[in-house]
Amino acid sequence: MANIPIFIPHAGCKNDCAFCNQKSITGQLVPPTMAESAKIIEEILQSLT
Ligand code: SF4
Repeated sequence: MANIPIFIPHAGCKNDCAFCNQKSITGQLVPPTMAESAKIIEEILQSLT
């Protein structure tokens, strides 16, 4: 069993406070798509086996 965290900027909070600019922190201007998230999960699962 494994937990695979995927950080999705501002998915839970739509605010954009200067001290918590998740787009700046992650370097991602848009959140990953479901397909991109699935690809990340597949890659991590392969590395675990
Ligand atoms: S600090 Fe601002 S942007 Fe960050 S979670 Fe709180 S309200 Fe949202």
